Parts: sequence; structure tokens; C-alpha cells
Amino acid sequence: MEMVIDGTWQAATEGETFAVLNPRDGSVVDHVPLAGPQDADRAIRAAETAMAGWRVTPMTERVAVQKACAQAMRDRAGEVGALLHAELGRPLMGCVGEILRSADLLDIYAEEGLRLVAEMPLGSAPGERIIVTRDPVGVVVAITPFNYPVTLLMFKLGAALIAGCAVVAKPSEDTPLSTLKLAEVFHDAGLPKGLFNVVTGKRALGEALVAHKIPRKIAFTGSVPAGKAIAAAAAGTMKRLTLELGGHSAAIVCADADIDKAAAAIARHGFANTGQFCYRVNRVYVERPVYDAFLRNLSDRASALTLAPAGGDGDLGPLVNEKILAVSERQVADARARGGRILTGGARPMGPGFAGGHYFPPTVVAETTPEMLLMREETFGPVIGVQPVDSAAEALRLANGSEFGLAGFVFTHDLGRGLALCEGLEAGSVWLNDIQRSSHHVPFGGVKQSGLGREKGRYGVEAYLEYKTMYLSWEVPA
Ligand code: NAD
Repeated sequence: MEMVIDGTWQAATEGETFAVLNPRDGSVVDHVPLAGPQDADRAIRAAETAMAGWRVTPMTERVAVQKACAQAMRDRAGEVGALLHAELGRPLMGCVGEILRSADLLDIYAEEGLRLVAEMPLGSAPGERIIVTRDPVGVVVAITPFNYPVTLLMFKLGAALIAGCAVVAKPSEDTPLSTLKLAEVFHDAGLPKGLFNVVTGKRALGEALVAHKIPRKIAFTGSVPAGKAIAAAAAGTMKRLTLELGGHSAAIVCADADIDKAAAAIARHGFANTGQFCYRVNRVYVERPVYDAFLRNLSDRASALTLAPAGGDGDLGPLVNEKILAVSERQVADARARGGRILTGGARPMGPGFAGGHYFPPTVVAETTPEMLLMREETFGPVIGVQPVDSAAEALRLANGSEFGLAGFVFTHDLGRGLALCEGLEAGSVWLNDIQRSSHHVPFGGVKQSGLGREKGRYGVEAYLEYKTMYLSWEVPA
């Protein structure tokens, strides 16, 4: 596939390309342009031109266009989902589901557009008024990771477009195809050209986009080190930032919890997308009286999950590449060396259907300690560490003893204790007694090193608007 700049398919200026590989077997799915600074410049200028018309397009028209794009995503979810399946390896149904769910977010953002208002405080003297209005922030660069490429782009694109901005998107080098296809879907649905450009390339392309003088905002989802590098580079031109970075989220299971329900929720959440999931449960602190029962339940659930081999079906796909897979392997080896007990999984599967891919099985490690890498560093793989604790207070202290603060989870029948633990967790979102998907209507984001700013709902749209204060004066007729 080529890239989409100003509504047309284009090659890189230098003509170079790179391969997109299928994580199930290493085969080449397609080639995409290896874009450089000249391509970044071309896309940004196309966005700037398009935005001049879009920012003054009446909101009702913007809403209609955005809703048409959402519907087109639903209509063509199979097509986009098939590409996502090929480049990411996740089972097809989950990929189609990602497209459908992302379309809902686009609709929600569109509806938030209709609720945007300017304000006029009533405190002014006769002949004077102050209007506090909202302007679109400017051209937006959206840089996304591989794990939920469509969802995480929609977090940004839907909010930016409805606010009146134009976007240059740079998808992950591992999974650019679904984003490119999406640009085609949006243009076919009537999105004016230049508002949604997609350039493909590696880190150097991201750096060129961040350093460019024209964009006013960088919306980034990805790792903490990349987020810090982007924040430092963006400071040079004082670009606005939304950063959704890594996580290492903890669950606390109290002795009075419904153990079956807790284990079910933690298994579902911790192994979703083969653990390539920023706010997944990475570590669990369990009060001693229910520690063994919880471990048995979680480990049974983990070992019942099947891996989907190349050409076959199963619950979980492979990891996206060897680098991501190596983190799980390293953390499990470290835990084993420090006395951790591997209850299930722990070794890379080989044999037919697995040998050519980046597979790692759902893995539960018991008797973990705070020194283990698994209990300190993001895994981004299907490994969960479980540690016994003497009290909920100890669990809370361990949960908060992390540089990350994306999510937290509490399981207890005692509502008062549950609320106190939820309030005590240093995290952008917390769940009590079950783990539902993060809702599109409410803010999503992290505290501490997990990020800056919030996405989704009206909070997401706010992040693409600047306040503008207008002081008006006139002669009051006698
Ligand atoms: P990554 O940080 O390696 O790459 C993400 C994107 O940033 C890619 O498009 C990459 O090319 C680009 N990039 C990397 N360095 C850059 C730089 N210096 N300047 C500009 N662009 C740069 O992340 P990944 O491996 O694709 O994804 C995994 C990470 O994403 C994990 O740490 C995970 O926690 C995080 N993540 C966070 C959330 C969230 O909402 N908080 C959601 C999903 C993933």
C-alpha cells in the first residue's frame, strides 16, 4: 500500500519501502513507504491547507461527515479488520470488534461537538462584554503504537476532527496497514481531503513530525521512553501534548472477595490481546487466606486459554514481534531465578503452527517479590505475577510503589473498604469488583509516568481546543 497525503495514495519521495510482517509466521503481508522529512512536510502542509476550510465549516456539517465516517467503518469493518488481523496476528473476530467499537467513539465525539459552547460572563460593565470562546488547537500529529492501532488513533482523530483540526497520523511500523485502509474508508465516506493524512515510517519519521514548525499539538500513545523523548522535542516549539504511555497496573484481591469472579476478571483482562494492553492487570496482590484458592482459579483459567497457530483458531494470537516477546521471556526467567513459581505457561511453544511466529503462552507466576522485573516493569505480554500480602494496606502500598499510574483494580465485598482502596490507588482509572472495558464517555489516561492529559468523551475533545478571550467594547446608545 502507499501512504495517504491530501486524499491521494502517494509513495515516499525517496521511493523507499519497508515490509509489514505477519506475526503468526513471519511472512510478508505488504510493503509500505518508508517516509522521510520531506514526506512529513508534504503531509503537514496538506493538513494546514485543509484545516483552513474545516475550522470554519459549521459544526452540524462536521458532525454529519464524522457520523458518515463512523458508519463507513461499520460497513467496512470486515475489510479493515482482515488487514489488522494480518499485521497484528490477533484472532479475526477481535480485530473486527476493534473497528466496530472504534466507530462508536467517533459518534460519541461527534455528539460532543454539538455540545460545545462559548461563554459570556455577566460581570461586565454596560458597553463591555467578554466572550470566552474555543478555537481548534491547530494541525495535530497523531503517533500511535501497534497494539490497538485503530482504537488508539480514533481516540485522537475523532476528537481532533470535531474540534476543527486536521491530522497527520503516523501509525506504528508494525501495524500501518489498517490505518492506511481507514484513510481510504474515510475519504470514500466524504471526509474532505487533507484532514486525515497517514504517513508510514519508523522512529525518524516520528521525530521529523514532532520537530516540524507547523503542528501545534502532538497526540501520542506508546512507551514511556518515546513519550519522554517526544515531550522534550515538542518543548522546542511549545506544542501541546497528550501522552498515553505505559502501565503496570495492580489488582488487589481481599480475603472477603468473590474469588471466582476476581480470577475471571483478571484472567480476561490480563491476557486480552495476548497481554499487549496498556492498562491490563500486570501484578496481583492477594490476602493470604485466599491466596491458594485464587492462584488455583487463575492458573486453571490461564491454562484453558489456547493459542491460535498460523492458519488455525484459538483464543490468543502471537506477540507482535521478537522484541515484545523477549520482554515476557526475560521477566519469566528473572522471576524463576529469584524463586518465583511458574504455575502455567512460561515457555515458548514450538512445533507446527508456532515455530515461525512470536508466540508466548498465558503464564501465571506465584510467590513473586517486589524485586522481580515482572513486578516492576511493564510486560506487554501474557504474564501475570501474583504475590501474597498480610493486609489490604500492604497491597495498596505495593500497588502504589510504581512509577506508573494508569489503572488499578480492587476486589472485596466490603464496599467501604473497596471505596477507600479505590481512592487510595494512584491511577487514572480504577475498577471495583469487575473489570469492564473502558467506556468511551469518560476520561482515559494516566497519572505519574503513565502520561499527560485525558482522551475520550468531552474530556478528549477539550484537549484539541484552546480558550480565546475576546474583550468587546462599544458606545452605549443614550
Ligand atoms: P513505541 O513507543 O515503541 O512506539 C509508538 C510509536 O511511536 C510508533 O509509531 C513509533 O514509531 C513512534 N516513536 C517511537 N519513538 C519516537 C520518537 N522519539 N519520536 C517520535 N515517534 C516515536 O510503542 P509500541 O512498542 O508501539 O507500543 C507499546 C507501548 O505503548 C507500551 O509501552 C504501552 O504501554 C504503550 N501503550 C499505551 C497506551 C495508553 O493508552 N496509555 C495504550 C497502548 C499502548
